[in-house]
Formats: sequence, C-alpha cells, structure tokens
Amino acid sequence: MKSSRREQNPNQLVVKYWLFSLFFALWFVAEAAAERPNILFIMSDDHACNAISAYGGRLADVAPTPNIDRLAKEGVRLNQCFVTNSICTPSRAVILSGQHSHLNGVKTLVDAFPGPTSGTPNVAEMLRQSGYQTALVGKWHLRSPPWGFDYWKVGPGQGLYHNPVFVASTDGVAYQSRVAKTAKRTKGYYTDLVTDYALEWLDDRDRSKPFFMMLHHKAPHGKWEPAERHKNYLADVEIPEPETLWEDFSHRSSATREMGTSITSRLHPRRTMVADVQKPEWPAGSIDLSGLSDREQGKAAYQKYLHDYLGCVKAVDENVGRVLDYLDESGLAANTLVIYTADQGMFLGEHDYFDKRWIYEECLQMPFLARLPGAIPAGSVNDTELCSNLDFAQTFLDYANVSDTVDVSKMQGQSLRGILSGQSPAQWRDAIYYRYWMHLAHHNIPAHYGIRTNRYKLAFFYALPLDASLGRGSFSASTPGWELYDLEFDPQEINNVYELPKYKPVVQQLKQRLLQLKQQYADHDEPYPELMKRRSELW
Ligand code: CA
Repeated sequence: MKSSRREQNPNQLVVKYWLFSLFFALWFVAEAAAERPNILFIMSDDHACNAISAYGGRLADVAPTPNIDRLAKEGVRLNQCFVTNSICTPSRAVILSGQHSHLNGVKTLVDAFPGPTSGTPNVAEMLRQSGYQTALVGKWHLRSPPWGFDYWKVGPGQGLYHNPVFVASTDGVAYQSRVAKTAKRTKGYYTDLVTDYALEWLDDRDRSKPFFMMLHHKAPHGKWEPAERHKNYLADVEIPEPETLWEDFSHRSSATREMGTSITSRLHPRRTMVADVQKPEWPAGSIDLSGLSDREQGKAAYQKYLHDYLGCVKAVDENVGRVLDYLDESGLAANTLVIYTADQGMFLGEHDYFDKRWIYEECLQMPFLARLPGAIPAGSVNDTELCSNLDFAQTFLDYANVSDTVDVSKMQGQSLRGILSGQSPAQWRDAIYYRYWMHLAHHNIPAHYGIRTNRYKLAFFYALPLDASLGRGSFSASTPGWELYDLEFDPQEINNVYELPKYKPVVQQLKQRLLQLKQQYADHDEPYPELMKRRSELW
C-alpha cells in the first residue's frame, strides 16, 4: 500500500527527535531562567537613607551616591521600609528567617542564629534546596557559623576596614565569630575586597543554576575608617547640620529625655551619661578643639563624624558601581534582581544622636532599592505601603517562584513582589510592630516596643532588661513612659503629643492595635510579671 506520507528513513527521524528535544530543553531552560531570576542582595551596615542621594535629604547634593542611585533610576525605591529591631545582628537574623527577633531567638548582639536542625527558617537554605546556587560574601555578624550557602567568605565579627581577615567555607577551618589575633590578614580595603570576592565567585559560579548572593558590606559601620583614596573626601566642605541637632528634649517622655548617646556632648555632657555609653571613637588629637566654645566643639564633633561616615559610604557607592558594571558586561543585568539595603537606618546627628536602636524614624527606616528590568518599573517610588525586613525572605522566595513549594508557614512577613512591580495587593498591612530588647546596653536606650502606621507612631518604653542576653544582670529598670508622634504634622518627631487630650482616641486605638500585633506575631508579655505590672500601671 502506498503511504500518503513521504517515507522517512530512521536516521532522519532520530535527528529530528534530537533536534526537537534540544529545542525543548533550551526553551525550558530559557523559560525557567526567566521565571527564576538571579537574586543579588547587597546590604551595607548602618547606611541611612539620608546618606543616599536617591532619597533626597540634606546630604544629597553634598555627598551624592550616583551608583546606588542607578538602582532607583532603573528600578523602585521604597520610602516606607522599616526594620523590626534596629540593631545589626538581630536585623540579619530577621532577614534570613522572616521571623521577629523573639521567635528566631536573636534579640541582641550576642545571640546565635539557630542552626540547620533547629527548625528556624533560613531563606538561603530554602533557595539552595530549590535549585539556586547560594553564596555569602562579606559581613555575617551572627554568632554561629553561616549555613544555607554553597559558598561563603566572611569577615568575622565586625571585621576590619584596613587589611581585614576573611575566612572562607573552602578554607577547611572552623568558623570563628571573632577575629583571632593571629589570623592572616589580607592587604586591601574591606569594601573593595568583598566586591572582588563577589565578582570572582560570579565568574566561577555554576552557570546551570540561578544564583542567590548576599553581598554584605561592613561599611559604613563605626569605627569609621575611609579608604586611603577617600581620606580627604569632602575635606573642604562644611556638612549641613540637621535641624534637630540642637533639639530641645522637653517634649519627650521622662523615659527618653535623658537617654541615648549625644554627638555634641561627647566632651560636655548635656544629658545624663552612664559609664557603659559608647561615643564616636576618634583617634586622639584628630580634631583640634582648642579655643573653641562648647557649641563650636559640638559642631566640630558633628563635622568629624559626618566626614568619616560619608568617606566610608563613598567606597560603598563606588563598589556598587563595579558590581552593576559587571552585571551589564556579563549580560546578567537583564535577569538579576538587584536589591540595595542596609541592616537598619542610622542617626546622622538627628536628635543629636549617632548610632541606631530607637524606634525613631532615622534608624527605623531602611533604604530599599530594587531593580529587575521588565518586572520592576524604572524610576518608580512607593510612598504608601509599610514594608519591612521581615518581608525580605518571602520576597526572595516569591521571585524564585518557590513560595508554593517550600514551607513558609513559620515566616511572619509577606512578599513585596507586587509592591515592587507597582501592583500593590488590595489588602496590605496597616501597621508595623517594632521591638528593641537591649535595655540600656551599650548606648543607654531603654527597652521598648511600639507601632508605626502611615500617620502615627506610638512607643511604649517599658524600660526593663527582662531576659535579654545583653541587659539582663547588667542594668536595672529605668523610668518607663509612652510617646506618640503625629508624622503628618511632625515628621521629625520633635513633638511628643501623647499627653494631649485631642489625641486620646488615637492613643486608645493604637494601643489596641499594638496588642493585636503582639498577638499576631506571638510576642507575649504574660511570661514577664514585671512587664505586666508596668503595663497595668501605665497602659
Ligand atoms: Ca547595623
């Protein structure tokens, strides 16, 4: 019988089969890659929005950050991204676990992040198990060995700016959370070196998998040591002072009025200082204060702090530029989600503070810029939605398209993917919950928790060390109190309106919402009788 189809010899059929298979495999890989972008998470330490020119602010013209700003121009800027606990180590644990500090166990600087068998979620491990190649380069700052990463190379503890120590997973030595005095040091500047290591790893990576990289800078954390090439950066420039540098604290509650660390009073205390308080550390004689009035000495201290800090930022910005150039040149930019953030904000003289820890805006707010061409609209800004480092882990998982296949039930955040892409969910949170545990430890700041909505901030300074590893046994209770700020009329938080009768209904409403949030996040006060006593007296 004559076939209606043209006869094909078996060899042609095999070739066609293989060509089809190859085409399908290539299509599948391309589709999978498009659906599963690389994720490059760049995080610096203590980088305030006020020191990123994309955020505007008083330093934008004086100390621009053109490379970091590229991410804002080519992606999205979040203006309402807040940390749950404004201190280095705890913030890192929240980012990895998607859990508040009381759940992941890292409430203070000395708590270890739970290990692989603890049941604590770790987004790096989840991505690794989902087919991502994972790497961590730079500052880790958790009191336990890194896990969840195919490769890591970290500077133990705070690390050193100049000629730092690095330990890599390939070195075959046990991880140490502190730099050993005998450890081998690498010639160079930390910010440059971690970028070198990140780019080297990207060059050598397994190209059959998408990657997840955490690139963590030490800068601009104190003690501030700019690179040699930036020693004279802004040397002849007078840095603008914030309006609140010379703030009158009479509006504050008695819980905070005399607390915290001052820049201008480092030589002439105008607030009560305790022995444990740290001050900006400068080499002896690095500022000439002879013949200056008290006020002039305060101004000089502020100038010194900002010059050193901005010098450290300058190297971060340059190195972000190196990374973005690399992504362009290697063709990775189109399919790599790049995020720039910091572990929390930082006071740059606002309220006469340096450091962080408080629920106040400058250290509560985190910078957050994200770029993914085609998925995140270029030059977009979100002013509305309340976002948090609690959300980062679930955001990564969502972009990796594994939110449905990994167990996120123990995480407490929400994916920011919709918000980043300009399609905010119809329902989004109306408030964030904040808690700082390290009562009086290091910077004389009372333990507190609070709530921030789009308009208001209510904080309860319960002022007890409770069971926090830092604070307990070293510090006793201090004066408790409440503060309320109406951010619509008082974005600088210089007018605590808690006692004003017209805000009474707002206070009641916020207190109720605060209790709901504590319930939602399972942060219960009931196990602490002394805290419950303060609540019963002051709520
Ligand atoms: Ca930090």
